[in-house]
Amino acid sequence: MGERLYRCEGIILKRIDVGEADRIVTILTPNGKIQATARGVRKTASKLSGHLELLSHCQLQLAVGKQRDVLTQSIAIERFDTLQLELVRMAAGYYVAELTDMLLADEDAAAQTYTLCLETLRALCTVQTVDMVLHWYTMQLCDAVGYRPQLTECAVCGQTLDSTAQLWSFVQGGMLCADCARSDIQAMRVSLSVFKVLRIVQREPLATVVGYTVPADVHAMVYQILRRWVMRQSERAIRSAAFLDDVRRQDLS
Ligand SMILES: [Zn+2]
Repeated sequence: MGERLYRCEGIILKRIDVGEADRIVTILTPNGKIQATARGVRKTASKLSGHLELLSHCQLQLAVGKQRDVLTQSIAIERFDTLQLELVRMAAGYYVAELTDMLLADEDAAAQTYTLCLETLRALCTVQTVDMVLHWYTMQLCDAVGYRPQLTECAVCGQTLDSTAQLWSFVQGGMLCADCARSDIQAMRVSLSVFKVLRIVQREPLATVVGYTVPADVHAMVYQILRRWVMRQSERAIRSAAFLDDVRRQDLS
């Protein structure tokens, strides 16, 4: 009986070395996230090596396996090489890969996530600073997988928020109106600039978002809120966040 083969497009999100020369690769496809074995990929003569770089966008051929499918062919469509040239872009790429792997569980959200992820990786190669792109991706990904925070209506009573709303609640799932402030004693007061950035990255397309110039302290607060939000939903820490912060700091100084 011959092996059953299939083809798909994918973005490489994670690679783990196993055995002497194999690798288990996590791939985001338009139909869901899959894990596949790449046999012998760490040997220099392997046809697969060089075509399974982290975050590269590939055309893949797989054979259906018992435990997991086996990669038989990979051709890079886009390699996003620019991400490898600067530490900040590289760290931003790792951050995108990790967030995607953390948050995407349901295959219903895969097609939307796939499109968002490609758009984000292309932008990370060309933008001057990566921050707005990362905020946008985090917010849009949360939206796609069902973790959309409430930013236009109060997360408790549903009334439309006015321009003076400044309370953010992790427990209630978004911004609160003044009347509902007491529903969460740990609600945080955020500046109007932070609130504005959160709304922009939730509502606007990426092309618009990257046009905004935002002060460093506002970025820091937006990162903090979005990361804590993501970690609450996934109950996991974002391991690449520390590396990203380090290289961003070096870049700013
Ligand atoms: Zn309210």
